[in-house]
Amino acid sequence: RPAASTFFVDKEARFGARNYHPVPVVVERALDCRVWDVEGREYIDMMSAYSAVSHGHLHPRLVAALQRQLGKVAVTSRAYHGTTLGPFLEKLCAVSGFERALPMNTGAEAVETAIKCARRFGHLRRGIPDGQQRILVARGNFHGRTSTIVGFSSEPAYRAGFGPFADGFDAFDFGDMDSVRAATTAHSCAVLVEPIQGEAGVLLPPPGFFQALRAWCDEKGLLLIIDEVQAGLGRTGRLFAFEHEGVRPDALILGKALGGGLLPVSAFLADARVMDVFDPGSHGSTFGGNALAAAVALEALQVLEDEQLVERSARLGEHLRGALQAVMDESGGLVRAVRGRGLWVGVDVDPALASARALVEALAQRGVLSKETHETVIRFAPPLTITRALVDQAVAAFREVVLEQRA
Ligand code: PMP
Repeated sequence: RPAASTFFVDKEARFGARNYHPVPVVVERALDCRVWDVEGREYIDMMSAYSAVSHGHLHPRLVAALQRQLGKVAVTSRAYHGTTLGPFLEKLCAVSGFERALPMNTGAEAVETAIKCARRFGHLRRGIPDGQQRILVARGNFHGRTSTIVGFSSEPAYRAGFGPFADGFDAFDFGDMDSVRAATTAHSCAVLVEPIQGEAGVLLPPPGFFQALRAWCDEKGLLLIIDEVQAGLGRTGRLFAFEHEGVRPDALILGKALGGGLLPVSAFLADARVMDVFDPGSHGSTFGGNALAAAVALEALQVLEDEQLVERSARLGEHLRGALQAVMDESGGLVRAVRGRGLWVGVDVDPALASARALVEALAQRGVLSKETHETVIRFAPPLTITRALVDQAVAAFREVVLEQRA
């Protein structure tokens, strides 16, 4: 690796905690779907920071919104009102169809908000004794990294050594209604679930699962809470991934792309009958809904509409999956499956023939950024602003890498 890269990689290794295993690319700057490393080498960003950069890097309208707000006020805390929060919340409610929104910063904080809301709802509205409310979660879930959240993860790497964990979660198999029924208890108050399991490897639910889950929630009085931190805001080719399933959740969690790739912004959304279990003093965050975040997030929602990025995700996602399927057909079994929705694709590789990590590193050397998950899956999730030509260029590089491994 050239000297400039080594300089920065070494500093992170020496002074940083060792909780990540980054691809050895030192990004210095980025614009839209392109990234340049510190040596000036150009890459196509097929990862977009796990969907946080769905609008492309440094979208000019989002940078302008940030700069405009920087000329006024950035942070006041929720001790006072402001001029950007209300319009942002109004827009969030308008696009999602929910009556109320509660702003947070990170995805995990919005998930924690959902858990607290569901438990209080279970206690106040369903009469479940406080402290005994239970929430159903899917095996293979990823909802963030707080100790409560990793406590109901089924992934040993997220949990090992971090106990004791919070009680009150029951696991079911993603996509399996019998398992949901078996895990439900008299004290269950909610189901918390991803519409597509992203970190687990872009796993789609079987057709009809969410409709059956919706019916079960209605029958048992459970809140259906869908975590669209990664799936939401156009990633799957619909504004919200739950639209593919023909259901409406009782509550929705957004993050990542909500901040337009500039700031951490998340939100928990629900109708008043659910949200109003929160009263003054019961929940909050110093930075949640700050003026800067609200100004940028409002513009981010507007840009999605104005540039028709959701439609673009559907159209180019289909093209991307088709092109990757053609690579699969040529790969002699190295690529076992290509799955996803919109511009969110998991490429499953046979670990006997190649490691996902080695493919990701070889691909980076050819100027394409992707990321592995769980040793056997490579994730492609470019900015929704990507062009057909760049998709083709990225897939051509992937094809070369795959064929080279096969040789
Ligand atoms: N929920 C889902 C579905 C996610 O994919 C993620 C992040 N990968 C999170 C929650 C957590 O978000 P954050 O890292 O912003 O806390």
